[in-house]
Amino acid sequence: MSTLAINLERLKSDLLSLFEIGYNPETKGVTRLGFTEADTRAKQWLKERFEHEGFWSYIDQAGNVVGRAKAEQPSQVVATGSHIDSVISGGMFDGTLGVLAGLEVLRVLRDHDITPATPVEVYAFSEEEGRFGGMMGVQALIGELTPDWLMSAHDVNGVKLQDEMRACGLDPMRALEARVDPGYFKSYIELHIEQGPVLDTIRKPIGVVESISGVYKWIVRLIGKSNHAGTAPMNMRSDAFMGLANFANEIPRIIAEEGSDKSRLTVGKVDLKPGHAHTVPGEVEFTLVGRDTDCDVMQALADSCRKVLSAIARKHNLMFEFEQMSWLEPQPMSDTIIKLIAEQATRLDLPHEHMPSGAGHDAQHMAKVTQAGMIFVPSVNGISHAPDEWTHWQDIEKGANVLLHSLHKLATE
Ligand SMILES: [Zn+2]
Repeated sequence: MSTLAINLERLKSDLLSLFEIGYNPETKGVTRLGFTEADTRAKQWLKERFEHEGFWSYIDQAGNVVGRAKAEQPSQVVATGSHIDSVISGGMFDGTLGVLAGLEVLRVLRDHDITPATPVEVYAFSEEEGRFGGMMGVQALIGELTPDWLMSAHDVNGVKLQDEMRACGLDPMRALEARVDPGYFKSYIELHIEQGPVLDTIRKPIGVVESISGVYKWIVRLIGKSNHAGTAPMNMRSDAFMGLANFANEIPRIIAEEGSDKSRLTVGKVDLKPGHAHTVPGEVEFTLVGRDTDCDVMQALADSCRKVLSAIARKHNLMFEFEQMSWLEPQPMSDTIIKLIAEQATRLDLPHEHMPSGAGHDAQHMAKVTQAGMIFVPSVNGISHAPDEWTHWQDIEKGANVLLHSLHKLATE
């Protein structure tokens, strides 16, 4: 069993080929937004890659690409995968690594004439990057989609999911049929780039993910009064920007008092009104995104943000209101899978680190229906969602080998 090893050249060749679909030579980034033409071409390419290897593959009603060794329907599978859609001008490895490493695992098992008791099934979940505000493919699979959502979901430009699905030859309402009986999945393991700086900084090739951060998104408004910047005395203003600046200044204290080392609070988008150099800004609207891996900590952070914003509003004569756009619970990974991944890394003599995932992944949804885990490999300088995203090939190989041995163990035991 220790002779099992992935063939890096095959995996590399697949990663390079897929990167060409939606690649822009000017930005050097790849753009395959969910349910666009490039995304559809990538799904077709992947299905053909499975078939070219003699494997069975199909695209389900939600646009998920599925591949496994044999056509006959198993009663249970060990699942792996990730996604092949991308953000605008993304890099080579986000999502694609987990899917193509899954394909490589199928090839290695075939080359060694291994027919596992439980077949390995590889997924490219559709629309993971959230163009339509969710992780549509995996949510369809686990039965979380509703007809209302399918009909109303749209992207930031108002383009409707249902129209894009039809343009890709899919009937939107039939996406509900992609639902799979939860008992079908014996387990799920996803290999993904870390997309953060931790592994690169501590120089370890393998991350064993213990939990995926929960995340909430608010739109906050502080409303005061616009006024002439020359005539309004400093002590008689209702300056919305001063309220925001004051809040930003309080973020480290909120985290120190209510948070953990895994907490994150980010003001990412600010709209100051009216936005003139000589006018005291009367209103500010900003996004506030909070994250933590513990439910209670996440709640405490949210409560504290609300209290601090109320106090700041009083101090600066502002009105405070907020809308909660989303609240996604943190998702712990399975202890069994965490242990299994760590054991395989140790057996392969690969230094590894137990860590949380700050970003969301398909695994957080699979974890609701089966024992799930994730393997991280280092992102050089922590860069992702950008053309500069990079992971050294030797780390790709190490991560894929940990995936191979973990899946082999689960599928043959
Ligand atoms: Zn991803």
